[in-house]
Amino acid sequence: MTTPTTSTAISSRCSRLKGSCDRLSERCSRLVPCFLADPVRRSSLGLKVALLLLHLVFAGTVFLLDSNLLQEHWLNATYLLLFVLTLVQYFYTSGSSPGFVIDAMRAENGTHATYINMSRASMQSASKNGNLTSSANSNQLGRSNSMNSSSWLKLVMDLYPPGPPGRSWTCTSCNIVQPPRSKHCHDCDKCVLQFDHHCVWLGTCIGKGNHCRFWWYIFEETILCTWTGLFYITFLRSRVLKAWWKAFIAAMLLTALVFCFIFLILLLLFHSYLVLTNQTTYELVRRRRISYLRGVPERVHPFSKGICRNLYYFCCSKESTFNLEAVPTMEELEARARPYTCIDIMSCRCC
Ligand SMILES: [Zn+2]
Ligand SMILES: [Zn+2]
Repeated sequence: MTTPTTSTAISSRCSRLKGSCDRLSERCSRLVPCFLADPVRRSSLGLKVALLLLHLVFAGTVFLLDSNLLQEHWLNATYLLLFVLTLVQYFYTSGSSPGFVIDAMRAENGTHATYINMSRASMQSASKNGNLTSSANSNQLGRSNSMNSSSWLKLVMDLYPPGPPGRSWTCTSCNIVQPPRSKHCHDCDKCVLQFDHHCVWLGTCIGKGNHCRFWWYIFEETILCTWTGLFYITFLRSRVLKAWWKAFIAAMLLTALVFCFIFLILLLLFHSYLVLTNQTTYELVRRRRISYLRGVPERVHPFSKGICRNLYYFCCSKESTFNLEAVPTMEELEARARPYTCIDIMSCRCC
């Protein structure tokens, strides 16, 4: 029979156990806050784990089915290097910023604030000489914030061609003025510079800041997919006697790889075309919905600087992510729409 002393001891032990469980859960949530607290980050982490497992399954199974494939050491070392590089590129792209408008605005305001501080310092030195009063300085301080936002507004408005008054380029969600080529992403809840698309697979937006990394990721993934497929084909075509279930697994995985390859090569070609013409997926798909692109003649890529320069700016340019592009004037676009002549071809107009 349970005495009152025993039940008190049990309940105190239970409460101690509950307390330690709570402390453990709190410690865990402090150690991995994104995993336990934020459902968006939790699903993003789940996707990354799924991608890692998929790569391990596709690349590892073929070597498990046929250990003879491991004989060529240098080839396997190169394959392993590509495998690791692709995964590193995936995590690198996934963790990189696409270039947010708010960051560009802060960077611009920072430059502007530095300019104001410099001019303020020169004014202070002038006031010591009795040329200016201290009230002038305090007025300058109060005005600097509004000047910061107005300087951003002026900078952005200068990038758009002149049009009817009353046009608004302000994002209704972020309440900041959007430069050309940017768009609000509802998944990231931020305006993205040179918005391409929101990539669910990477869990991030693809924009001006990480489009190049994204291209390299698709390129590496395509090569890896092709190489892995070739391993499966080698295994299936080998004359070594193999169990039927091994051949079945290899055939199934090879079929999946073929579908992945078709998707990847089309994506790679599509993004290569976008790079060469300096376009984004969003601009290409929604051209008629973007007000400043509506009047642009067909087949004219308004932001293209020529194939070579587009490639250079995409791959090698050390320019800041926050460098903004202006929309060309209609006269400029109409001049670009004129048909090619022999002189244009000789002078490499398209480059
Ligand atoms: Zn926005
Ligand atoms: Zn996004």
